[in-house]
Amino acid sequence: MATRADYEPVPAVAGAFGRTHVGTVVMKFGGTSVADPERLKAVARRLVATSEKGNRVVAVLSAMGDTTDHLHDLARQISLRPAPRELDMLVSVGERISCALAAMAIHDLGREAISLTGSQAGIVTDTVHGKAKIVDVRARRIHEALDRGAIVLVAGFQGVSTTFDVTTLGRGASDLTAVALAAALDADACEIYTDVEGVYTGDPRVVVQARKLHAVSYEEMLEMAASGAKVLQLRSVELARNHGVKLHVRSAFAEADGTWVSEEDERMLEKAMISGITHTVEEAVYRVEGVATADLFQALADASVNVDTIIQIGPEIVFSAPAEDRTETCATLDRTGGTWSENSDLGKVSIVGAGMKSHPGIAARTFAALADLELEPAFISTSPIKIAFYVPREEVERAVKTLHETFDLATATAEREHA
Ligand code: ASP
Ligand code: MG
Repeated sequence: MATRADYEPVPAVAGAFGRTHVGTVVMKFGGTSVADPERLKAVARRLVATSEKGNRVVAVLSAMGDTTDHLHDLARQISLRPAPRELDMLVSVGERISCALAAMAIHDLGREAISLTGSQAGIVTDTVHGKAKIVDVRARRIHEALDRGAIVLVAGFQGVSTTFDVTTLGRGASDLTAVALAAALDADACEIYTDVEGVYTGDPRVVVQARKLHAVSYEEMLEMAASGAKVLQLRSVELARNHGVKLHVRSAFAEADGTWVSEEDERMLEKAMISGITHTVEEAVYRVEGVATADLFQALADASVNVDTIIQIGPEIVFSAPAEDRTETCATLDRTGGTWSENSDLGKVSIVGAGMKSHPGIAARTFAALADLELEPAFISTSPIKIAFYVPREEVERAVKTLHETFDLATATAEREHA
């Protein structure tokens, strides 16, 4: 005998029947967005509102304000060479505080919530303290909590190593936690809530007319993050691209849409040749002679120095590396036995745009504009979607402002709509 239901049997417990009808969303909030109890309560309200719209909500929180910096300072006051394992035990605490407090705030709003450390959330890493890489996400506990209808709060930038120690993933790596979870949970999107409204055509502190972009491709975002855009951590963009996780960078303090980061589509190529101009003064440029190229870069890699631009001019090798790797870089160069010098008076300006691939003349316009400013770049390096050059640090802002005008980035006519 056939039985007939008078309603569609939508599972009351999402996930209990395998594929779910509701979407999962990962929402990451940065340090400024959770800086004090009021802001944490606002975040809690936003999480509840998103959950109430029918989403399974996983939040990844950063430490409150400058907590991580303070914890590093505290360690330094105790020891000049703290054991990396203990440093990770210490600095991982900041994000746990945010998550526990947010869970309490959500409880007070009458909803279920649970805070989890990286380890409890199933984020398994290698054993490199301070710079660990995620090797697996075992999200069973997150799924169980979501199935119960709870909002899940995961402490950012940390995991547990394959040898069961607490590890951290590197500065700014709460973004990475969020993307890894979005990939593991097959989330609809990974939302990065921050203190700016999205990704801009230039640093708004330097270019007053800088405009918020609606959409950029993973490749563009990678170039931007690698060359000074601070809004997203570089590794997180890489991971998002590798797993096709759609990112939405937006303000924690406003409702408006921010910038979508996704796969390149035709409109991106057609509409805007240039997406943005980034700059950084946080790199040093090194010139080395008398060391075999292979030996030099192997030694730098062994010291975990993150080499950026490399240029070889005759017997001389020129490369740039982040200022934060300076101690390791200099020590490595001393050991290699060649002659070397360091120049920390240069800054780098990068022009990034997927449309560059199909529009000739960008380099010509760039260097003509610099010539008008009587600026001669010290080094130039390019990729298919980027032109970067080094000029004296005090000239960086002038170059950025001028190029923003040269390429008309303040006008919205070249704007793209997001998918
Ligand atoms: N709190 C960590 C840091 O300051 C991680 C993060 O915020 O992404 O680097
Ligand atoms: Mg950040």
